[in-house]
Amino acid sequence: MNTKPYQRKVYWNEPTMTWWERAYLFEILRGLGITGGVFLGNMWRWMTGRKGALTTYYPEETRADYAAGNRGKHILTQRPDGTPQCIACNMCATVCPAQVIEIDAAFDPDDPAHPKYPSRFEIDYSRCIFCGLCVEACPEDAIRMVKEVPELPSADREHMWLKMDELLTWNPQSDVAKPYPPKGGA
Ligand code: SF4
Ligand code: SF4
Repeated sequence: MNTKPYQRKVYWNEPTMTWWERAYLFEILRGLGITGGVFLGNMWRWMTGRKGALTTYYPEETRADYAAGNRGKHILTQRPDGTPQCIACNMCATVCPAQVIEIDAAFDPDDPAHPKYPSRFEIDYSRCIFCGLCVEACPEDAIRMVKEVPELPSADREHMWLKMDELLTWNPQSDVAKPYPPKGGA
């Protein structure tokens, strides 16, 4: 039988407290005083028509300080002639876990360099989970997510379908490093 006496282990970050803190009640009262002061201060600002706490009253208000890497609204990048950089390969739609990307592919016989293009490209934002996998999967840098969030709130789910026009023309972007032969050139 092990008769070794119990020895409490002393940790490197062992808290050290004064007798005042050990008394517990005084610290509880101090914490309640801090919380109550912030609450009453915010309440007073609110009652006098000013903004109190840092809460953003979405959707009436939106934040202006989204992180640069925030996965917000999708955009489709454009070629120099304004056509979508997308080649309608369906990689993004295939990888999308929520299955919210719908693409109709079309063929342009006058453009031998990139004959396949999307005639319809839509995203259903009512089900998108903003995971960014579509952006990762795209071999053409044709779809990106910018930090601004889409204006989602709506009583109509139809409003939450983003069509190709908006994806292309809202905040248009292109990949300047990518050379494209002009239409008609091989
Ligand atoms: S962000 Fe995710 S859920 Fe939304 S469209 Fe892209 S892959 Fe689908
Ligand atoms: S956005 Fe990219 S991944 Fe999606 S269909 Fe177009 S080229 Fe393919």
